[in-house]
Amino acid sequence: MTKGYLLKGRIIDGTLNPPVESGAVVIEGERLAWVGPAADLPPMYLDRELDVIDLPGRTLMPGLVDGHTHISFGESRSEEENALYTPVEFRTAKALYYAKKVLQAGVTSAFDAATSYNIAQAVRDAIDTGMFEGPRFTVSGKQLTNHQGLEDSFPNEMQFPPGQSAVLIRSREELIEAIRFQVKDEVDAIKVSGSNDNLITPDSLGSSAFTLEEFQIIAKESHRLGRLCSVHARSRDSALYAAQAGFDNLFHASYIDDEGIEACLKNKCVITPTLTLLVNLMEAKQSESLGASSTDAFRREIEAASANLKKAFEAGVPLIAGSESGWSPVPYGQWHAREMEIFTTHLGLTPLQAIHANTLVATRLLPRYGHEVGKLEAGRLADVLVVPGNPLDDIKILQRPGSFDYIFKGGKPIDRTPPAPRKRKWYERHKIFLNGLYEFDQEAGVGRLVQ
Ligand SMILES: [Zn+2]
Repeated sequence: MTKGYLLKGRIIDGTLNPPVESGAVVIEGERLAWVGPAADLPPMYLDRELDVIDLPGRTLMPGLVDGHTHISFGESRSEEENALYTPVEFRTAKALYYAKKVLQAGVTSAFDAATSYNIAQAVRDAIDTGMFEGPRFTVSGKQLTNHQGLEDSFPNEMQFPPGQSAVLIRSREELIEAIRFQVKDEVDAIKVSGSNDNLITPDSLGSSAFTLEEFQIIAKESHRLGRLCSVHARSRDSALYAAQAGFDNLFHASYIDDEGIEACLKNKCVITPTLTLLVNLMEAKQSESLGASSTDAFRREIEAASANLKKAFEAGVPLIAGSESGWSPVPYGQWHAREMEIFTTHLGLTPLQAIHANTLVATRLLPRYGHEVGKLEAGRLADVLVVPGNPLDDIKILQRPGSFDYIFKGGKPIDRTPPAPRKRKWYERHKIFLNGLYEFDQEAGVGRLVQ
């Protein structure tokens, strides 16, 4: 059995400190015992017969903290698939399968931003109790929504589907009840659907689903019960009200304005944009068939978000990198590091600031053990990546986790063998006969597929 590890290389520690070019990191047990310049390494560590990992040109950095995942969504191709199809037992098995892929991408901690059923809690606990491999999850329950929020997207004649990753709130009393119910179900955070979404409903970005007063009720009760409070807030008003009400985190905030930024600064609210979903959708050029709105709507939102979030960051609002992994445009294990690249290309962050946003800043979303991860520092848990090259020269290096030499979680190198590809069961999706209309062209006398 190993007595521990001595890693050597360039250290990016998760803070904004400049890298230590010739650094050393000592891992003993599940924790970091020492971090600093190799020249200052106390001699006692040389006598301890540690396994030495000293590969030329490598960078040592904290494991990634993904600020926005949905481990229960199973790479759903549509909201119907997510809300209506696939039995909960099979979905849970899928989530455990995918959790390993997420870890193998270098994500050692993650915030789950809304779950179907209570799958995220089960996945978190199955990993934390040592039964399955995956990141350390911090989880929201189902998001609290109303008729104007995300997820109440089926006709009023239908009952709200139990598999939907939201709970429908009809009154202020139900708001309080839903929070207490979820806390009993062991959530770490309360998530609110504060606005709708281009993915589901076109041109729905103007207003807020909940009033300022309702946001205040939610923040007060969540905090009273010791839970983090976060919100899906694409629209201006939802971002503003949630920040004014004292929410801890805004997801997206694409249309935040000066007033909203001011409220974030006043109430110490962070923003987790998750632009990866929008950029991937644009690139995949499949938005027409994925939802109600067009590629143009995504392009407009990316442009607005780039300008508004750049302003927020420059004003001093911390940004957190999250991937939105779980939907089909962002499959698990593949895109977790892309947000850092987008932060540099769209929001003007330096690569070091982007890494900070995907490590130490993101621990603000992890109330249970945020102080134990996200930074290479003696005493913290040894979640460490050993990466070829220098991500400060090329941030995209971090998007190729297959090339990492090691991924340590809790002082142990994780198993890097990719899970065998899985097949889809017929019940995982709604059955589309044909993706379009097969119209008859009378002049040509032939049929033609029309979208
Ligand atoms: Zn999400």
